[in-house]
Amino acid sequence: MPIASTMQDRPLLISGILEHGRRIYPDSRVITVGADGAVESTYAQVAARAAQLAHALRGVGVVEGDRVATFCWNHQAHLEAYLGVSAMGAVMHTLNIRLFPGQLAFCVNHAEDKVILIDASLIPLLGKVASELTTVEHVVVVGGDGECGPAALAPLEAIPGATIHRYEAFLEGHPSTYDWPELDERAAASMAYTSGTTGDPKGVVYSHRSTCLHALGICLGSVAALTERDRVLSVVPMFHANAWGLAYAAWWCGADHLLPGPFLQPEPLVRAIERHRPTVAGAVPSIWTGVLHYCSAQGADLSSFRLVLCGGSAVPESLMRRFEEELGVHIVQAWGMTETSPVGTVARAPRGVSEAESWSYRVSQGRVVQGVEMRVVADDGAALPWDGQSVGELEIRGPWVTGRYYRVEAPERFDDGWLRTGDVGTIDARGYVRITDRSKDVIKSGGEWISSVDLENALMGHPDVFEAAVIGVHDAKWEERPLACVVAAEGKEPTPASMRAFLSDKVARWWLPERWTFVDEIPKTSVGKFDKKLLRERYEAGALDVVEVATG
Ligand code: AMP
Repeated sequence: MPIASTMQDRPLLISGILEHGRRIYPDSRVITVGADGAVESTYAQVAARAAQLAHALRGVGVVEGDRVATFCWNHQAHLEAYLGVSAMGAVMHTLNIRLFPGQLAFCVNHAEDKVILIDASLIPLLGKVASELTTVEHVVVVGGDGECGPAALAPLEAIPGATIHRYEAFLEGHPSTYDWPELDERAAASMAYTSGTTGDPKGVVYSHRSTCLHALGICLGSVAALTERDRVLSVVPMFHANAWGLAYAAWWCGADHLLPGPFLQPEPLVRAIERHRPTVAGAVPSIWTGVLHYCSAQGADLSSFRLVLCGGSAVPESLMRRFEEELGVHIVQAWGMTETSPVGTVARAPRGVSEAESWSYRVSQGRVVQGVEMRVVADDGAALPWDGQSVGELEIRGPWVTGRYYRVEAPERFDDGWLRTGDVGTIDARGYVRITDRSKDVIKSGGEWISSVDLENALMGHPDVFEAAVIGVHDAKWEERPLACVVAAEGKEPTPASMRAFLSDKVARWWLPERWTFVDEIPKTSVGKFDKKLLRERYEAGALDVVEVATG
């Protein structure tokens, strides 16, 4: 006969994370790197401002469930939104500043954002789609005080019916405490769109419960082992995949936050590391590659780090080894997705293996974090053995994994309660996941997605092009970059320069391929689809004649 538990049923809420940090660690720091030095605040100050933000939002009519978007770099005000927006019961929607205009407008309209908090420096980006935004009532401009006059704000005026505010004035005069509502822990707390799938970006809505459990997961000894003694550098953008949960996790355990703002180039990053001495950091491989090259040339002291988390795409072994040998810094690879909050696996070597053996585990995607489960399945849906040999699609389920997408049916992405990751690989007897391929053909460049399909479609709109396929190829700096494989239309001679010019108003500038190859035909699979696997093989075998344009 089952009996009821006697435990209290207190909800896991972001207001709980916020209040814990405020009360227990009032003196911990949030440091934002700026153009003229860093701005440093205490947790007590940040918590007070998060409360002021909640009051201000309330004042303009934001109620529980309303979407409040951010369009910001990593900085203190963004953290205030992370905490205050969700704690008051609104839903924080992190807009990815790297989405190209059409996707950006889609995300704002699809989420029905009522308010957007935007960095002054990013106004021109949002300005491109301002007139297409149909639900935005208020825009709050963060920073840029002094230098951001009416002319700089003008693009926002094209948002139909929106009132424009300045962040500091918006907060001013509001109380520094807030009586946070006791929400349902399963209510929406935040959301993000992923462009890692085909078609329109798809929304993932995180709950308070999923966010809290994920944050606890990040704090675990086997993940980041965070404590009050840490100082966490989030290079991973707060506008993509929740900055890997570091904002919540670090706050909950009282670690200092070091937020780099837009200063992600190797030089300012290394300077910030030397000056502020973070103990933990998270960033995609392309960032660390840049840092490594800079340090090799200039020399630098990165000795404050005890852990550097790296993921978002496969982490090259050479990068990990050189970081360790030349800089004395230990890189740990992690794997995850927007759909998984994001952290799913972490690649720490198992106990009892030699240093030499440990590398085969460290270069894997790692073992699934406790609380979450993974499996590998064959094409026919059968679960495959954990033998390190059987290759199939990786599937994941758990309390911080999405069970569907927001307001769109995508049954092909789910399998009997498991999320289909789209990643293909193996799991070994010890539970180490190794991704061998991606079932999707999108390209991951510097941690952000480039859709090969969108690029192809744009390319094939060119009158001189018969057909075109785009594949991701390895790039020393960005991990992957697009290679455009073009078949010219009869009698035409398209050039990389003419194609790039043609694409420049159709896709984001950083999508423009540097590498081009002109071929007689695109190989096709049995069902007539572009055979990108074969194209990749030909590229790797050096069988394609590739022209690389200098982009300066
Ligand atoms: P996103 O949702 O944009 O964060 O992208 C998630 C995808 O990034 C995953 O499905 C993988 O394809 C890729 N990814 C993330 N981390 C890794 C990693 N450590 N190794 C290989 N691929 C990764």
